Amino acid sequence: MSQIIDGKLIAQNLRNDLKTEIAALKQKFNKAPGLAVVQVGNVAASSVYVKAKTKSATEVGIEVFDHHLDNEITEDELMLLIKKLNQQENVNGILVQLPLPKHINEQKVLDSIHPDKDADGFHPLNVGKLSISSSNDENLLIPCTPYGCLLMLKGLKTDLKGKHAVVIGRSNIVGKPMAQLLLKESCTVTIAHSKTIDLDKLCSRADILVAAIGKPEFVKGDWIKDNAIVIDVGINRIEIKTDGEVKNKLVGDVDFLEAKSKTTAITPVPGGVGPMTIACLLRNTTISFKNKLSQ
Ligand code: NAD
Repeated sequence: MSQIIDGKLIAQNLRNDLKTEIAALKQKFNKAPGLAVVQVGNVAASSVYVKAKTKSATEVGIEVFDHHLDNEITEDELMLLIKKLNQQENVNGILVQLPLPKHINEQKVLDSIHPDKDADGFHPLNVGKLSISSSNDENLLIPCTPYGCLLMLKGLKTDLKGKHAVVIGRSNIVGKPMAQLLLKESCTVTIAHSKTIDLDKLCSRADILVAAIGKPEFVKGDWIKDNAIVIDVGINRIEIKTDGEVKNKLVGDVDFLEAKSKTTAITPVPGGVGPMTIACLLRNTTISFKNKLSQ
């Protein structure tokens, strides 16, 4: 029978550990980690994420500095704020909620965040460190979603060494860092993407399948190898009709019901990867705080 990996519970445990650690650090050093959350404009989904991140951060004892900016702010003004936050002593992590409005160069803004305060782990220096370090070092700032996926895989107590992992998706925030992390666990990693040929055949050889595509229920049950582990990163909102009423439903990139019977373990959507992403953001902020204390 397939194990449904409970991302909510694993994330809760991680947050509890962080809360205990932060309380001890606060007692010893009389200061707490600080996270600056920068949102530009009023994209509804961004507001939901920012609210959830702020609530979780506050609950574990991280001080949140909220910067909600007008949609019309210029790139220069935003860069000036980042510059100030880079210098602000009590800010250990800076999170810029994406997407930014079209008139602002997202990469330029992300690159301007000081690498030591890079709560999302997107800065080129941290991306480079992730790529060249031989192990999944405790002090690295690693992109939150893939690190959350890795923690869920490690929690299964299955030996990852030598397993064939297929990661579908090559984005900078999920697919590529996920592949790096699995490589460090000594998996044999294949990255698939929109131009991959015979994706179904490739997936059917995967011991571990990570789907980060953004297409609802794209991966079908008959693509999945018997006894595989499936991590579904996708978050897709679809409309379903129940009793003549149209309702919104969140689904992943994998057809969960079809896939479940083939797997030994699988993440659900919602309640899988999503909660882990926020918990790992809090973890990165705490790592930045500890790195600063030890300087
Ligand atoms: P993205 O759009 O940047 O990347 C999607 C990737 O999928 C691309 O690399 C593309 O090559 C690949 N792809 C597209 N069509 C394909 C096809 N037909 N066959 C194979 N590959 C194909 O998206 P992203 O930011 O990496 O996010 C992916 C999904 O994960 C989205 O649903 C997003 O909402 C979700 N997501 C969830 C979390 C979370 O916390 N759970 C965090 C980030 C992203």
